[in-house]
Amino acid sequence: MSNKYVVIGGIAAGMSAASRIKKVEPGAEVIVFEKGEFISYGACSMPYYISNPEGDYKDLIVLTVDDARNKRGIDVRTNHLVLGISPNEKRVFYKELISGKEKSIDYDRLVIATGASPVKPPIAGVENDNVFSLRTLNDGIAIKKFIEEKKPEKAVIIGAGYIGLEMAESFKVLGLDITIVEMLEKPMPNYNEKIIDTILKTLEENGVKTYFNTTVERIEENKVITTSGEFEADIVLLATGVKPNSRLAKDAGIELGVNGAIAVDSKMETSISGIYAAGDCAESIHRITNRKTYVPLGTIANKHGRVAGLNAARELARFPGAIKSAEFKLFDKEVASCGLSLKEAVQEGFDPVEISITASSAAHGYKYRYPIQVAMIGDKKTGKILGCQMIGKTGVAHRINIVATAIFNGNTVKEFSMFDLAYAPPFSPVWDPVLIAANVLSGKLK
Ligand code: FAD
Ligand code: NAD
Repeated sequence: MSNKYVVIGGIAAGMSAASRIKKVEPGAEVIVFEKGEFISYGACSMPYYISNPEGDYKDLIVLTVDDARNKRGIDVRTNHLVLGISPNEKRVFYKELISGKEKSIDYDRLVIATGASPVKPPIAGVENDNVFSLRTLNDGIAIKKFIEEKKPEKAVIIGAGYIGLEMAESFKVLGLDITIVEMLEKPMPNYNEKIIDTILKTLEENGVKTYFNTTVERIEENKVITTSGEFEADIVLLATGVKPNSRLAKDAGIELGVNGAIAVDSKMETSISGIYAAGDCAESIHRITNRKTYVPLGTIANKHGRVAGLNAARELARFPGAIKSAEFKLFDKEVASCGLSLKEAVQEGFDPVEISITASSAAHGYKYRYPIQVAMIGDKKTGKILGCQMIGKTGVAHRINIVATAIFNGNTVKEFSMFDLAYAPPFSPVWDPVLIAANVLSGKLK
């Protein structure tokens, strides 16, 4: 007899899990409940969809509901909100949002992939019509519509993290005047100081005004009142971080872990046998520290989902750990990082050494070459690479993955400094910038 699987959440982690289950057990009944109207979209592309006048939200959808049903045999139920889970009865309670009817369904195995929600700071005015968060495809559609219809001229972005910085570029492309307010003293505090300076310079060169150490006091109709002054705002974007959607799990008696995310083992199984959790609602194991951590990234959500789906379908798989590889585009710059920052390495009890260098993206004599700043961190005790960060006009976003591979494999700085990397003048100098950084760091670790 085939098994019955229920998956809660139909984006990166949920659909990865559902697809894996169907691959392993084609005859299984797999039901995905998604409270929204879309499944399987690339949230990561929303800043570029918003800034593209020809942008069509349909292009962000990786798998339509019809294709999931007809081609993959997954029983996707959109506009279905899961209200509760009873692990004892192996039953999920849900509401059909269109009819308003409440129902329940039994399962053999359950995957929770409820993602994360934007943090909404408790500030007066956050519910105003011109204040947006950017998380779901509907958020992206709403922002684009507002800009097209209301033609705002001034934007205030609250938060200088990933979304704040990506959206600064997006709004700028649309001709908006942008002010970013951030409560910390600098943007992206896990980056090396020199790289942060380049981030700040890039924002300044592109006319983005920034205010750090700034608290928002309230939002008025067309104004944001802060401790650094009042800023006119026809549109306000809240980009103040995310929190895991773990309430359903908690209410069902499932243990929570780091940052309030659902606690899981390396099989992505929760504290209740037969219930798995994956994606932004779940914690991860950090591959370098071996400790639990929270990594709300699409790269990780897809892998979590795959591992959870395989284990749910009784095919052993393990999540090998995250090293927080991430990158983003900031106007004409690529910015990327992997592993631990210097501060994190100290907090985790390593004896870290950090170096930073500037090298060229291409060989001498090649016309189109640009500086790449590389910061690399190694551990004095083991000699291993702990982290790396980079910024530059070109050749950064993919280059970080070389270092990520070495960190993932536990290579020492010395081993890495002699990696056999390809070279041709348009693509790198004969000693690649990451190898130059490793050689300098290797000298300091002696
Ligand atoms: P989600 O995408 O949050 O999906 C969870 C789903 O569960 C939601 O659709 C929700 O409606 C549903 N759900 C929740 N509760 C219930 C319930 N009770 N009943 C039914 N359904 C429910 N990551 C990267 O790695 N690289 C990037 O470049 C990148 N860029 C990003 C840019 C933006 C603007 C944003 C917002 C995110 C970006 N991310 C990026 C992060 C990435 O999008 C997320 O990590 C990823 O979407 C997480 O997938 P998920 O399936 O775990 O969660
Ligand atoms: P974030 O954690 O990257 O940044 C939030 C920023 O808001 C922080 O700098 C924080 O100090 C600031 N902040 C918080 N409360 C504030 C307040 N009241 N006033 C002023 N500043 C405040 O979160 P995000 O930008 O919302 O993005 C959410 C998540 O989405 C990220 O953590 C990341 O995992 C993912 N993401 C990744 C990418 C990428 O990989 N390229 C792009 C976008 C989003």
